[in-house]
Amino acid sequence: MSKPSPDVYEQGRGMDAHNKVMRDIRAQKDKTYDPHEPTRVWIDEDRTPGGVYQSLTIILNTGGCRWARAGGCTMCGYVAESVEGGSVAHDALMDQIDVCLDHEQEQIEAGEADGKSGLIKIYTSGSFLDEREVGAETRRAIAETFADRERIVVESLPDFVDREKLADFTEQGLDTDVAIGLETATDRVRHDCVNKYFDFEDFIEASEHAEAAGAGVKAYLLMKPPFLSESEAIEDMKSSVRRCAEYAHTVSMNPTNVQRYTMVDELYFRDGYRPPWLWSVAEVLEDTADADAIVVSDPVGHGSDRGPHNCGECDDRVQKAIKDFDIRQDPSVFAEVSCECEATWDAVVEREKSFSLPLAR
Ligand code: SF4
Ligand SMILES: [Zn+2]
Repeated sequence: MSKPSPDVYEQGRGMDAHNKVMRDIRAQKDKTYDPHEPTRVWIDEDRTPGGVYQSLTIILNTGGCRWARAGGCTMCGYVAESVEGGSVAHDALMDQIDVCLDHEQEQIEAGEADGKSGLIKIYTSGSFLDEREVGAETRRAIAETFADRERIVVESLPDFVDREKLADFTEQGLDTDVAIGLETATDRVRHDCVNKYFDFEDFIEASEHAEAAGAGVKAYLLMKPPFLSESEAIEDMKSSVRRCAEYAHTVSMNPTNVQRYTMVDELYFRDGYRPPWLWSVAEVLEDTADADAIVVSDPVGHGSDRGPHNCGECDDRVQKAIKDFDIRQDPSVFAEVSCECEATWDAVVEREKSFSLPLAR
């Protein structure tokens, strides 16, 4: 893992302080989970460089992210969902995969899915390529299980991306992508607002390892971490999408939502945080439509106070335009939606400062 400068390790300052707050918040969690069940599984549709695929998305329960144990990212509630004790055995992980395959089969039988999904996306509560979460034996068994599909995406922090691990998938003839939670291309924002420890340089290095394995990169960006005003968040995403497009064929730009047991939740509870407007998401997608990458967004919890939202009247329409854009990559979809609340959004973008957050609900 990359080392922040020594001064951020000073007791009670910088990352050390962020981590301490997050450990205290997460200590409140009281849930336990079954290691034989995935955290979540669902069937969806995704645009990839190889076309639009039906996708089976799996969130494996692997015991949790290493970084989250140190404290972790300000918005991340995944760790509250992870297994006590820190690691999940091979057999239990393979049971989770079986549950996912059964789910897919049930969907096919119910007429909800159109045969087996061509695209498999595997996320964990951390890094699929971290062998403390998913050992080499399990990784290879999973690669074999899905060898009959066309594409696979596995999630990882940049530190764990290496050529041999990805070769387990490419050697099965799968078009392989590694999904990296970069969050932003701006190091200052990633360190101070997200509390993520690595640098943009590390992301570039990981993309080079992926390329050497014949794999691609899908970058995940986070719109509006805490402490940024609406306009700062928009600018941060516009520049991040463009910088990422140089290294990633797909950029998934996702607005922050307020998850339980996070610093964002504490701020939100004290009226110090509002998730981004859906207009802001549309603005970034429209502005960066000429970037040399597929740019998509999946606003989770749209229209609710804890998720990205507008006025309540237009949220579903704007969300639909965003989902249309994801599949068609055509910015003209945004010209078809409008609402009176755009005037409020304009005023917020113009006037909100980071010391007066949030200016409107
Ligand atoms: S966002 Fe990723 S790196 Fe950060 S704490 Fe959550 S799982 Fe770990
Ligand atoms: Zn509106």
